[in-house]
Amino acid sequence: MIIDATFVKSAAHASDLPRDGLAEVALVGRSNVGKSSLINALVRRRIARTSAAPGKTRLANIYRVTRAGAEPFYLVDLPGYGYARGGAAAARGFNELTRAYFRLVRQVGQVRRVGGINPPALPAPPAPPARVGALLLVDARHPGLEADLKAWQWLRQTVARCAVVATKIDKLARGQRIRALRAFESVFDRPVQPVSAVTGEGLDDLWKLIAQQLTSG
Ligand code: GDP
Repeated sequence: MIIDATFVKSAAHASDLPRDGLAEVALVGRSNVGKSSLINALVRRRIARTSAAPGKTRLANIYRVTRAGAEPFYLVDLPGYGYARGGAAAARGFNELTRAYFRLVRQVGQVRRVGGINPPALPAPPAPPARVGALLLVDARHPGLEADLKAWQWLRQTVARCAVVATKIDKLARGQRIRALRAFESVFDRPVQPVSAVTGEGLDDLWKLIAQQLTSG
């Protein structure tokens, strides 16, 4: 499978995000959960910088990704949350940019839906992404962390297509995996996708999940 991926930009504000109608898949998770490593493993290229200093990234990094034979989409790497050393603001959960990103996605969708009754003098709203999916990344070794559960509750209310991905599965032995995945399933109330950026395990299935988010009605 041929994958083309390019860095588009870092966005400090939701208004800096590209709005050209391409589908988007947003990645969220605690700092150090393995988000950058997973992005690199997915696109098979060192495109995302893995964090030497956890909790530093406060920008959304946007990548344009094309898999052979499929429509391009944006992979939106949102700031990590819940890193204690980031102080009270970081511990609170999603940062303002992440909230603004999902608010914007929702708002633009609503504007589009009521577009027909807008007075004609108003400028056209920015093109909304055709589809938006969200992946919540959780560390396979830590099922049921409060910060992850809060993030999940928030995401489920906000984004129609969301799924949970358990990172660093290679760090668990067979028996531990089964127990961890069961624990995840019970706290998130759905199966989670185990992956490893190190061994490549689960990446094909994750691509299938992404393809579903990009295409499902
Ligand atoms: P981010 O802060 O969420 O972007 O996390 P990084 O991708 O920078 O990863 C944080 C740390 O976890 C780094 O030391 C990575 O090498 C390590 N890591 C990330 N993914 C994996 C994985 O799948 N398996 C293992 N064993 N380590 C991983």
